Amino acid sequence: MKKLLFVLALVPLMSFGQKTDVKNVILMVGDGMGLSQLSSIYYFNDNKEPNFSRFKNIGLMNTSSAKQKITDSAAGATAFATGQKSYNGAISVDTLEKDLQTIIEIIQDKGVKSGLVATSSITHATPACFYSHAVSRNLAEDIAKDLVKSGVDFFAGGGLKYFNKRADGIDMYRELIKKGFELDTTLLNPLKKLNKQKRYGYLMAENGLKSKLEGRDDFLLDATELALSYLQDSDEGFFLMVEGSQIDWEGHAHNGKGIIEEVKDFDKAVGAALDFAEIDGETLVIVTADHETGGFALAPTAKDSSWQYNDIHPTFYKGADDPAMSYAAHTTTLIPVLAYGPGSELFQGFYQNNDIFHKIMQATNWNITEIRQNTNPDAQQHIYKEKR
Ligand code: MG
Ligand code: ZN
Repeated sequence: MKKLLFVLALVPLMSFGQKTDVKNVILMVGDGMGLSQLSSIYYFNDNKEPNFSRFKNIGLMNTSSAKQKITDSAAGATAFATGQKSYNGAISVDTLEKDLQTIIEIIQDKGVKSGLVATSSITHATPACFYSHAVSRNLAEDIAKDLVKSGVDFFAGGGLKYFNKRADGIDMYRELIKKGFELDTTLLNPLKKLNKQKRYGYLMAENGLKSKLEGRDDFLLDATELALSYLQDSDEGFFLMVEGSQIDWEGHAHNGKGIIEEVKDFDKAVGAALDFAEIDGETLVIVTADHETGGFALAPTAKDSSWQYNDIHPTFYKGADDPAMSYAAHTTTLIPVLAYGPGSELFQGFYQNNDIFHKIMQATNWNITEIRQNTNPDAQQHIYKEKR
């Protein structure tokens, strides 16, 4: 009897801190990629099946921010990175402008490595929310300073000028090197063998990278592959965020052709993540977007008068021609979430954008132990309790 009681007392202790099947998480954000943008390459991809088709678990997400029904990329990425909704423009601060702990800040103390890849400046709203805290997305120089202080192990994107040509005169490029980064501004070779003892930064443009229509190469695919080959050597696993930043920019420009090329480019990087996850078996891949941009649609052309509806034309919501509408180019349509690998079943159903963070925490053992302070009366509170 004494022995039995002893065993029973051990059960809760054994389940505490137990290993899950998820060691690594790859979060892929197609900025501005609503369902129409995602759908576009099913019709404009030379009859090649998109990598999006390889996902089994699919959900839909509401992207409204704490203060605005229609979010921007900063509030959207704050929700992904911290688990809390905030105001448009916020870089991982709450509606009272207090810092919110980001996923990278949580995992760095556990020895889990992190990487960020974007086709925008690495200081742009989406990547910034994973390592920085700023009251406005426009504070690019402050955000660059936060990258220097951060625990990020690998980054690749644009934004060189926010490090080496700053208004405050500080040479943040040198500061990055002092922090142990090996930097490159000219070449990203996906086959290069990186040293897991080091940190790496690729700053491949002064600000954002060229668009696909302007001739950008396979940077997004190459950077994703290089990041994965480096991060996979991490004993405690990794978190990698990959952003197809310019789907949104082509949406703002109302350029349907540009959207399609950016989505194709993003889908290639998705393929690389899935190839890795298939072999690895301990990697959760999540593909989603912060919001839809442009009211993009796949509609018949006006001259398709035969009502055959076979001549699909990438077009835009007409209201966008109204000057009042063309500024507010994001829409609040529900956004698809595609998930693959262990833990991916958690991403089925309808939920909020900040639930992405909580679902990642639930799938991994990156548990937060302290209860978050309720500093944010406007935002929906999703206090995460340690998983048992
Ligand atoms: Mg973005
Ligand atoms: Zn936008």
